[in-house]
Amino acid sequence: MVNKTILVVLDGLAYETAEQCMSFLHALKEQQIATVYKMQCELPSMSRPLYETILTGVTPARSGIVNNQVARNSNQKSVFSLARGAGLTTAAAAFHWYSELYNYSPYDAVRDRHTQDPEQLIQYGCFYHGEHYADSYLYLDAESLRLRYDPDFLLIHTMNIDNAGHKAGVDSAHYRNTVRNSDVELSKYLPGWIDQGYQVLITADHGMNDDKSHGGTLSKERDIPFFVIGGHFSHQQNCAPKQTEICGIICQFLGIQNHHKAVTDSLLLKPLLMERPCLQAMA
Ligand SMILES: [Zn+2]
Repeated sequence: MVNKTILVVLDGLAYETAEQCMSFLHALKEQQIATVYKMQCELPSMSRPLYETILTGVTPARSGIVNNQVARNSNQKSVFSLARGAGLTTAAAAFHWYSELYNYSPYDAVRDRHTQDPEQLIQYGCFYHGEHYADSYLYLDAESLRLRYDPDFLLIHTMNIDNAGHKAGVDSAHYRNTVRNSDVELSKYLPGWIDQGYQVLITADHGMNDDKSHGGTLSKERDIPFFVIGGHFSHQQNCAPKQTEICGIICQFLGIQNHHKAVTDSLLLKPLLMERPCLQAMA
């Protein structure tokens, strides 16, 4: 059985700022619709390495995507490759580095910005290449892909929060207001996704520091939020999901057999989902 899943990656969103500034998501938490966990990102705390970690469950040190300049196809099993192998439909509205990891590298904007190619790992894509590409446009791109192609797995990746952090630092009105704006954008779409029964995961690749950058080991660079919405999560607070488990969680929702990344924290998901035969094979 396939449970349609949406993964939202808010680039550069520090945990503490999400706690302070995302009151729509926290309204869902207060109504017991969403649960938020504090997650620690893998190292190095940089974007492209952690895009690969989120989508494959493999740490940068092992995937070889160890800095932002490693521009090549992923050589790991990813949510996209496993979903395609299972005959599922994939889509992404995301920064062009995702196209480079899972479709074509190097990125060619004319060819790749609007992707409609059932043979690619990301079959339906809307990719952007400027860090200032407005989140509001990006969510429209994503919603258009969702309505047009009805993907089993949809990745949405925004860049405005990271961009604000690089301009003004984590402790700035600009960064905080950009996070508040992101919360408002999510409030336009999440109610519809919830009504339609999607499993939704909202997280970040890494956080942000006071030096208008990231890449180190400070808690403000490593601590990120992990919001979960949907009936297949346990919504228990006493578990500590890892960034390397996101790929496995999504694969379980998509009913993908023989996935190599087990979800080690069994408390995160509803028991019914954990007991399915393909999951025992993974253990
Ligand atoms: Zn950045």
